[in-house]
Amino acid sequence: MAKEIILIVEDEEDILEVISYNLVKEGYEVYGVTSGEEALRSVKMQVPDLILLDLMLPGMDGLDICRNLKQNSSTQDLPIMMLTAKSEDTDIVAGLELGADDYVVKPFSPSVLVARIRAVLRRRAMGPAAEGVAIQIKDLTIDPGRHEVLFRDRPVDLTFTEFRILHFLSRHPGWVYTRDQIIEAVRGDDYVVTDRAVDVQIAGLRKKLGIAGTYIETVRGVGYRFKE
Ligand code: CA
Repeated sequence: MAKEIILIVEDEEDILEVISYNLVKEGYEVYGVTSGEEALRSVKMQVPDLILLDLMLPGMDGLDICRNLKQNSSTQDLPIMMLTAKSEDTDIVAGLELGADDYVVKPFSPSVLVARIRAVLRRRAMGPAAEGVAIQIKDLTIDPGRHEVLFRDRPVDLTFTEFRILHFLSRHPGWVYTRDQIIEAVRGDDYVVTDRAVDVQIAGLRKKLGIAGTYIETVRGVGYRFKE
């Protein structure tokens, strides 16, 4: 099998070097650039399998690059993993809403980074669970056809919106979604869902799911995800 190609965009050369070293060791083909302009040039010549994108870059920043890639039909499906500082919560949210797949907060250990990269590439290869097909995760079954949730074979009674949120999150285990993305995905025609309402819905959902409620994780400052 051909090696998977990863493009790293990072202006701090020592970090770039450490990441490159570790990814090459893991068997990836790695290219590194230190600016957004170079990143876009590089992607035009060869679309990588994944892009590791530092958000704080001189000139064109990570979010600009993200936006640019997602607007272009040849690169819109390219997985993007953001590299961020702890203080950049709002940028993480913005990046996820632009379509980035995941993020790692600096400083991170190379083994964590490698594991997250593998997870993103694996999820991409599998794609989401098909729209109408029942999802089975651990002891939880979510059946969109019957609009039914079973925990250890016993039905869990959920409202329409709770069901939609659970189904949406469980279709992509491990993916972090912002509140806006959840609202976008589950918005009914009949009423407007707000940020705060998402939190209330999730709280209700967890309570009704009991033990399985812990499968829904809060990602502080960012949103929610279904545990992988
Ligand atoms: Ca930087």
